[in-house]
Amino acid sequence: RWCSGPAKVRGKYARVTDADVHHFRSLLGESNVLTGRQNVGPYNVDYLKHVSGESGLVLKPKTTKDVSEILKYCNGRNIAVCPQAGNTGMSGGSVAMFDEVVLSTQRMNSIINFDPVSGVLVCQAGCVLESLMNHVESHGYMMPLDLGSKGSCQIGGNVSTNAGGIRVIRYGTLQGCVLGLEAVTADGTILDCVNTMRKDNTGYHLKHLFIGSEGTLGVITKVAILCPRLPKHVNIAFIGLDSYDKVLQLFSIARAEFGETLSSFELMDNVTVTCVEKNLQLQCPIANTYQFYVLIELASSRPNVGQHMENVLEKALDDSVIADATTSDQTSNINKIWKIRESGIDALLKLGYVYTFDLSIPLKQFYEIVELTREKLKDVADCKIVSGFGHIGDSNLHLNIVTSRCDEELTQLIEPFVYGWTSKCGGSVSAEHGIGSAKTHYLKYTKSVQAIDLMRRLKNTMDPKCILNPYKVIPTATADVAVR
Ligand code: FAD
Repeated sequence: RWCSGPAKVRGKYARVTDADVHHFRSLLGESNVLTGRQNVGPYNVDYLKHVSGESGLVLKPKTTKDVSEILKYCNGRNIAVCPQAGNTGMSGGSVAMFDEVVLSTQRMNSIINFDPVSGVLVCQAGCVLESLMNHVESHGYMMPLDLGSKGSCQIGGNVSTNAGGIRVIRYGTLQGCVLGLEAVTADGTILDCVNTMRKDNTGYHLKHLFIGSEGTLGVITKVAILCPRLPKHVNIAFIGLDSYDKVLQLFSIARAEFGETLSSFELMDNVTVTCVEKNLQLQCPIANTYQFYVLIELASSRPNVGQHMENVLEKALDDSVIADATTSDQTSNINKIWKIRESGIDALLKLGYVYTFDLSIPLKQFYEIVELTREKLKDVADCKIVSGFGHIGDSNLHLNIVTSRCDEELTQLIEPFVYGWTSKCGGSVSAEHGIGSAKTHYLKYTKSVQAIDLMRRLKNTMDPKCILNPYKVIPTATADVAVR
């Protein structure tokens, strides 16, 4: 269990009774109300296995009306609720901290409409990202986001965390592509903001209250997303480099040369690639002897980007900016190479607990924190490996520390150091994973006192009893402290 972030005292919420369970069974049907340790167990543990909740009840609504009835009832009874989608979140937001009822969107997985002219997709919040990708691809479109967890994460979870992913450099974070959404607020009110127009300046953009608020202001039930056209030509390069300075040189060259066709510029250090090779038996497509690896993806409607990429990389090789490279335009090769980049976290998890950080850091100092952390922890026996990878094109570093235990002592050694350094650099303590329960204490490292105060007032207005995802995002957001 994370030690510094999560609240240690249960809020003054009602405990679930047999009468409550009976009520939910009559509302949703027997099989959509899970009780008992074995059934509820998987919903009580997060992906990183840092948080274990004590929820005794999982509810699986199918419709917006179901969600509305659940929240109306819970608000009336003062029962706390934790919304959960694919449960791939990295900040402990999707798992109960105490005995909150888990509201799972697993069954809310219908595609409502896809317009092949405008590229606008409307669907329920529980659709798995990969299934949406497959659906829009069959119409010649792509989802504007892609992430390693695509096989499990759901679009509602993605929107609630304002997910980033591997193509932010080209398509931006999800917030720019969400045209509208439907959400249910704490008292059960259904808020229909499912706008499907690209332009809509009719007053406050209420959708933004729910994008990135991690289930603390409402449960998202439907989304409308603008999808870009699927590029006709995709080319990829996997490149070895000898120093971080050269990575930055290559980034400048790539932006200047590839312009709007650059759809990814991703970094992995040698420690990460070695771990992926050893622990997942995936093979690095070039010699594993370089300090850094960069994955560049170009996407275009024009056929000649591949040749241009070859020319640019050849020159970079002659100029000793890069040390080695391989390129491909074949889908099966492209997928294999992406797998190496996307498997970093799973390869590290094979070795123990992973303290994973999701930092925005100015590019000049980007890799410095990996080296500083390595130095700081070099004599700590329980810290086995420090690695760095991430979306360098968006200044987003995932710093990872593999440890043999996960407790207060280690947390206190690592977290204030990393977040303090990030704050001093003018970075962000969460580039894309959100605050969840893990980083509530560190929100102030990035947000001002006034900003946190306004967040509190919004929470109070929209969820006065604080039943929605308590203990998450805002420090002391629980019923007893009452965020007043
Ligand atoms: P969950 O983990 O279930 O929930 C996340 C948060 O949203 C929780 O606070 C939950 O309460 C809330 N929530 C869920 N559904 C709703 C809803 N319908 N209404 C309101 N609140 C809701 N993230 C990135 O941004 N970029 C990456 O590149 C990336 N790569 C990853 C790679 C791997 C291998 C893994 C395991 C994770 C990665 N992640 C990444 C993190 C994670 O996948 C994302 O945060 C994702 O958006 C979470 O979606 P989910 O469906 O799993 O949501």
